[in-house]
Amino acid sequence: MGFTPTSATEKGLLQTGQLYEYILKTSVYPREPELLKEIRDLSSTHPLAVMVTAPDAGQFMALILKLINAKKTIEIGVFTGYSLLLTALAIPDDGKITAIDIDRSNYDRIGLPVIKKAGLTHKINFIESPALPVLEQLLQDNHESFDFAFVDADKNNYANYHEKLLKLLKPGGIIMYDNTLWGGTVAMAAEFVPQGYSEMRVHAIEFNRNLALDSRVEISQLPLGDGLTMCRRL
Ligand code: SAM
Ligand code: CA
Repeated sequence: MGFTPTSATEKGLLQTGQLYEYILKTSVYPREPELLKEIRDLSSTHPLAVMVTAPDAGQFMALILKLINAKKTIEIGVFTGYSLLLTALAIPDDGKITAIDIDRSNYDRIGLPVIKKAGLTHKINFIESPALPVLEQLLQDNHESFDFAFVDADKNNYANYHEKLLKLLKPGGIIMYDNTLWGGTVAMAAEFVPQGYSEMRVHAIEFNRNLALDSRVEISQLPLGDGLTMCRRL
């Protein structure tokens, strides 16, 4: 007989690594565009490869970008360019992504050659900078003009990014926040949290709690990748 949930906590489906593997192998990898696979493969030997956006979260973002007909987007945190390429593939030919990263070396070395090969560089305005001053600058003449934002950089600044993005986004615009479950540590007792997770875990917990109370957005906490929170600006 099948599994019968007995309490609210047992209703979550993703209870095993095998089930996650099943989802990736059945529904994600077969539909992953070749060029994205190429960036994922090229990034896999990087010592920080774990930072690449999870392909299931990426697949969902591509779907949302197309559903809302996103044209003008922001990305905070590019690394080697996986989420940037998936965005460039999803928006129309005259769409534009303002992509911000404090360090462009990984993008230049790994993602950019693939994006050039794909003929998509005209959709990307890459800005090498800490993100916050760029958002402040954008606010001077881009109020309520963006359709979509993906936030995947320094977790301790998510709350600051949120305030700026709410002004930059059109009403109805979407923000996706990545890593909001922080390796599952948000639900762990502090004494069981693995080394290295503690500081950002505290920020993630506070951010998630505040987002749930924020009447300016509708939200959904998705158990994709490392936790992806989708916000719709009201
Ligand atoms: N979205 C990327 C992908 O799909 O592979 C992964 C991004 S990685 C998790 C985080 C990136 O944020 C790093 O490349 C890092 O340089 C960048 N970063 C960290 N702090 C930043 C800041 N204050 N402003 C802009 N970028 C920052
Ligand atoms: Ca991430």
